[in-house]
Amino acid sequence: MSDPFSIAGQWFKGNLHVHTTASDGRMTPQETVASYAEHGYDFLSITDHEAVTETAGLDDKGMLLIPGIELGGGRTDLDSSYHMVAIGAKGPMEYDTQWSAQKLIDYGTENAEFVFMAHPYWLSLTLADMIDLDGCIGLEVYNTFCHHDVGRGESGELWDDLLARDKRMLGFAVDDAHGAELDAWIGYIMVKAPACEYDDIIEAIKAGSFYSSNGPTISNIKREGDRLLVECSPCQEVCAVCPAPGLGGTNWRTEQKPPLTEIELQLFEGSDPVRIECIDAEGNKAWSNPMWLPD
Ligand SMILES: [Zn+2]
Ligand SMILES: [Zn+2]
Repeated sequence: MSDPFSIAGQWFKGNLHVHTTASDGRMTPQETVASYAEHGYDFLSITDHEAVTETAGLDDKGMLLIPGIELGGGRTDLDSSYHMVAIGAKGPMEYDTQWSAQKLIDYGTENAEFVFMAHPYWLSLTLADMIDLDGCIGLEVYNTFCHHDVGRGESGELWDDLLARDKRMLGFAVDDAHGAELDAWIGYIMVKAPACEYDDIIEAIKAGSFYSSNGPTISNIKREGDRLLVECSPCQEVCAVCPAPGLGGTNWRTEQKPPLTEIELQLFEGSDPVRIECIDAEGNKAWSNPMWLPD
């Protein structure tokens, strides 16, 4: 995976999951684009249910618009359907909701740039539902709509369960906005790329050159010996989350008092992979992608 903190480029803010009046959202595609542009986003993917919403005729308001779709289908262990977000749709996408999860991933990967799993906690997805699927590049570690609607927005535990079994999944924070009151302009990714151009953003995301957030900013993560140095916007807690059993570390080990902006975290034998969570005074979080540490 690419380390966004050690490569050249600029940071670009984007949301890869939002609905409009073309499915069950309340803002039109144009209103959606305008609202995200007004909130400082650099790129946006409209991902309506079951059909790719045409964006070519919209005023992009200076943002990069990436065609996308939310695919629903397959059956989980608890008899729910899977939802998946396919980004970079190459044309209209027609599929069958009776297809298996693996067939949806394969179809999405072939007809778009990449696929990630939507709101796994809300759909009660388990390790058994995910472990045998191939080609899905990640999952939503945070979904604003699911947080505000049902309090089940965060899926870090399933992410770690998969990482601990060597499933190299990326973590995406998204809005999945359906309206404009509580579920918009909150969950986002920050991508490090040469420019905010389609190919650059797609390649950077696929390489893992981004972090996720619903508030805090991570400006640097650097390894020095057996320590990880993290620089972020003022936070109450900064954690090294290690998916391996019994490992990890929080800021308390360093005896630094919040607000924390530069933190050292101890790494242990076997702290691999490790990912960082930064939590601010309001409880908002930023999530790095997992890092596999060089020896
Ligand atoms: Zn969904
Ligand atoms: Zn959705």
